[in-house]
Amino acid sequence: MNAAERREQLVALMREMQSQHECPLIATRTKLVFGAGNADADLMFVGEAPGFYEDQQGLPFVGRAGKLLDQCLVEIGLERSDAFVSNVLKCRPPDNRDPLPDEIEVCKPYLFRQIELIEPKVVCTLGNFSLKLLTRSNTGITRVHGEPQEHELGGRRVKLYPLFHPAAALRGTGVLEQLREDFSRLPGLLSEPAPEQPRPPEPDPATQMDLFG
Ligand code: URA
Repeated sequence: MNAAERREQLVALMREMQSQHECPLIATRTKLVFGAGNADADLMFVGEAPGFYEDQQGLPFVGRAGKLLDQCLVEIGLERSDAFVSNVLKCRPPDNRDPLPDEIEVCKPYLFRQIELIEPKVVCTLGNFSLKLLTRSNTGITRVHGEPQEHELGGRRVKLYPLFHPAAALRGTGVLEQLREDFSRLPGLLSEPAPEQPRPPEPDPATQMDLFG
């Protein structure tokens, strides 16, 4: 798929979400925050859920945590337009409470579809919610931050890079230092070859017999 096709399909997915998404949070949210950025990027960030400013503007990471994300990107010579930024939930939970399991469940297919369409080389999870969802594990961010893993996401092998959530880094200098240090290894990860993709199964000769009479 070329960049224009990816963009077109992402827009179609956003329209589908706007019209058909059966999220319990629709009643309380202002705007759907589908995600934004470069549809053809090698790098994707997945946060937790929109906050107050994101809900107002319909865009991800536009508040204080977003400013820190931008700053961390600049420090490694990248910018927002080099990445696609999304969240586990596309609607803001009231008072920024944690996402609930049923909310994650209805939103999850859209995130996987985004990953499938963008085909990123590296998916950075920000905080525990995206980490646990995408690794299908209960191991928390403090234990695995900064250690790349490989997972099958959206039908492909992808490098997953667990990072602290920038909002957590805003609350403590230790976490901020860790986040910066983990970010400094991101260019190296991006320059590595993408994980090898499993080969599609060979056609079974028995099903081809009629071709030979
Ligand atoms: N925190 C998130 O997890 N996502 C946003 O979009 C903003 C803040």
